[in-house]
Amino acid sequence: MKSNLDYPLVPYEAPSWTSTINKDMIPKYTIKLGTLNTPIQRWRLPDIPDDFEVFVKRDDMTGSVLTGNKVRKLEFLMADCVDKGCQAVIACGGIFSNSCRAAAIAARQMGLDSHLLLWSKETEMPFTGNALLDRLVGSNFYLMPKDCPFQTDVYPRMRQLYAHILKTSGKKAYQIPFGGTNEIGVWGYIACFHELMGQGLFESNYTDIVIAGGSGGSVMGLGIANYLTGSKLKIHGMAACLTNEYFHNEGDKILRAHGLQAEDGSTGVKTADIVHFAEVVGIGYGMNTPEEMECIEKIATKTGIFVDPVYSSKAVYNLIKMMNESPDTLKGKKVLFIHTGGVFDLFSGVFASRMNAKSCSENRVFDWMELTDKVPSSV
Ligand SMILES: *Cc1c(COP(=O)(O)O)cnc(C)c1O
Repeated sequence: MKSNLDYPLVPYEAPSWTSTINKDMIPKYTIKLGTLNTPIQRWRLPDIPDDFEVFVKRDDMTGSVLTGNKVRKLEFLMADCVDKGCQAVIACGGIFSNSCRAAAIAARQMGLDSHLLLWSKETEMPFTGNALLDRLVGSNFYLMPKDCPFQTDVYPRMRQLYAHILKTSGKKAYQIPFGGTNEIGVWGYIACFHELMGQGLFESNYTDIVIAGGSGGSVMGLGIANYLTGSKLKIHGMAACLTNEYFHNEGDKILRAHGLQAEDGSTGVKTADIVHFAEVVGIGYGMNTPEEMECIEKIATKTGIFVDPVYSSKAVYNLIKMMNESPDTLKGKKVLFIHTGGVFDLFSGVFASRMNAKSCSENRVFDWMELTDKVPSSV
C-alpha cells in the first residue's frame, strides 16, 4: 500500500449511521486533499422574501485551485486510485470542467499523470479558465465531439485510452467517472453531511438543503446521509446539466451498489424518495440567459460571493424564483445552500466580453489621467 509524496492513504472511519451500507462499499481509505470544515455563513441574497433565511456552506473554499465540491469526491476516488496501484488518471467532462481540473491538479500534486477526455465544439483547445490550469499542470487533452453519449462513446474511449496509456507508458490509469460520481465518489458528500452534523446541522433547525447538480453525486451523498440519519431535512438537487430521469437512474445505481435498494429495484429506497430534483438547465448546459448573468453580477455586487455560471448561478437563480413563486416547494423557511465552487468558469471569456460591452459609467470606470485639483496636505 504505497502512496505518493505528501498524500498518504488515511484509514477512513465511516460514521456509525452508515452501517447499513454494504460493507464492501465503505471506503477503507481517504486522502486529505481539501481544506475541509468549510464555514457556514448567513447569506443575505438579493430579492428573496423577508420570511426566508438563507445560509451558505462555503464549499467554494475547499482549496485555492484544488477547490469546489469535486475535491471531496476525489478524497475517496484518489485513495482508491492509489490503493489500486495506478500511476495516472483519466477524467472526462466539458471543456471547462471543474471535475477534470480538480482531477488534473490533484493527480499532479500526487505525482500522477492526467489524461482528460473533453467534449468540444471545436478542434482547438481554448486555454482559459479551468483549461488553462489543466494545461499548466501538464495534462494531456483528447477532444471528443460535443454531446457524445457516455455508455456507447465516452466510456469505450476511456477504456481504449487506458489500453493506450498502458502500452505506451506502462502506467495503469485510474478511470474517474463523469463528475466523479459513482458509488465511491458519493462518499464525498456522505462525509460532508457528517461534517455538517458536527457544525450543528440539526440544532440549527434548517428545513432544506439546496445544491446544484451535474452528475448528481454530491446531492446523492447528501440524500443518502439524510436518509440514513433519519433526518427530516428536504434535499434539493438543482439539475443544471442533465435530466431528472438521468439523476434517478444514476442515483438508483448507487443505491443498489450500496445495498440500499434491491437489485431489481423492488424493495428498498429510491432516489425519488430521498432527493427532490428540479431541472434548472435553462437554455443549455454551460449557457446562460441574460437574467442568469445579471444574477451572478448582482449576487457578487451585493454579497461578495461569486457563483459560477454553469452550476451554482442556475441553482441560486432558481432558488430565488422558487422562494418567490412556489415557496411550498421548500419544506420551510431556513435554507442551507451548498456552494459547490466553480469560480474559474467566470474566466472563460464570456463574462469579460459582457463587461467590455458596457459603458464606462455602468462599469464605474472614471477617467482620471491627470492630477489637476489641489491636493489637501492631509485629510
Ligand atoms: C460538478 C459541479 C457541480 C455538480 O456536482 P455533481 O456532484 O456532479 O452533481 C455543481 N457545481 C459545480 C461548481 C461543479 O463543478
